[in-house]
Amino acid sequence: MIIIMSSSATREQVDNVERKLSELGFKTHPIFGDIKTVIGAIGDKRLLNTQLISNMPGVENLVPIMKPYKLAGKELKQTPTIIEIGDVKIGGDELVVMAGPCAIENEANFLETAVKVKEAGAKILRGGAFKPRTSPYAFQGLEEDGLKIMAAAREATGLKIVTEVVDTRDVELVSSYTDIIQIGARNMQNFRLLQEAGSTQKPVLLKRGLSATIEEWLMAAEYIIAAGNKDVILCERGIRTFETATRNTLDLSAIPVVKEASHLPIVIDPSHATGAWKYVAPLAKGAIATGADGLIIEVHPDPANALCDGPQSLRPSKFAQLMKELEPIAMAVGKKI
Ligand code: PEP
Ligand code: MN
Repeated sequence: MIIIMSSSATREQVDNVERKLSELGFKTHPIFGDIKTVIGAIGDKRLLNTQLISNMPGVENLVPIMKPYKLAGKELKQTPTIIEIGDVKIGGDELVVMAGPCAIENEANFLETAVKVKEAGAKILRGGAFKPRTSPYAFQGLEEDGLKIMAAAREATGLKIVTEVVDTRDVELVSSYTDIIQIGARNMQNFRLLQEAGSTQKPVLLKRGLSATIEEWLMAAEYIIAAGNKDVILCERGIRTFETATRNTLDLSAIPVVKEASHLPIVIDPSHATGAWKYVAPLAKGAIATGADGLIIEVHPDPANALCDGPQSLRPSKFAQLMKELEPIAMAVGKKI
């Protein structure tokens, strides 16, 4: 339920309504607008005494939230969520590019990539320390040693970092190193992991599950926000379809659909979507033209010898060229890069 306070409502009246809602067992989410304050009340609506709340001083109106994603949706909050990570803002008029290798392999190679993607204009450095591989025999990541290498690369370059967590037991460890916690496609419906990430203060990059509908994806975001962390960045990384020409099928329509349904920023991962480096540039361009807030791209100095996802990784020089080619497209849709 959304409780719309009148424009003349005082702070005390807002607080009183919030207090009453908590007494009734609701979690409250006030949004202080320029003109009006609205309070999202999330809980079992059968317990909501609407008459009592409607009659409280300062209350103008009660409106039910129709969508199942109450906090991720636009009914409660229409203004876009802009996530600030130091001086990097995701969801505004800046197009944010995250880049780096699939996995952190060793310090020298990771640092080399970090310096190059920064020079090309990336703002956030990606790299996996815990790798959710299809095969248990494939490289699983350097774990905490990888996180230490990431932190050193941040120190050396000033880039922010994003890395994946795959287990609830590692959330505290990963969030103590990273600037953004990544939840991978395979874990999009690992609800305990979502809640655990939601209990941190770090922004969460939530990848769309391989077979998840947009509504299921927004419900996964809802878990994180309901657990107390409103900074969710959605990431479309391709879904499973009957098509086998690419690793997955990039659902570019997710961009306008998400923009209509949610206030959360959305970034596109053309690397995992296609599985082939040569398709990364055209889809990155398409994503920006379609209104994405950013991109996450795999870059490796020696793709042929990468321990993970070499075939879809761009060499640093190709990445730098792509960044230049993105500029006019970003400008055309009113974004800076
Ligand atoms: C990744 O970003 O390295 C990754 C494993 O991605 P996804 O979860 O989208 O497969
Ligand atoms: Mn990868």
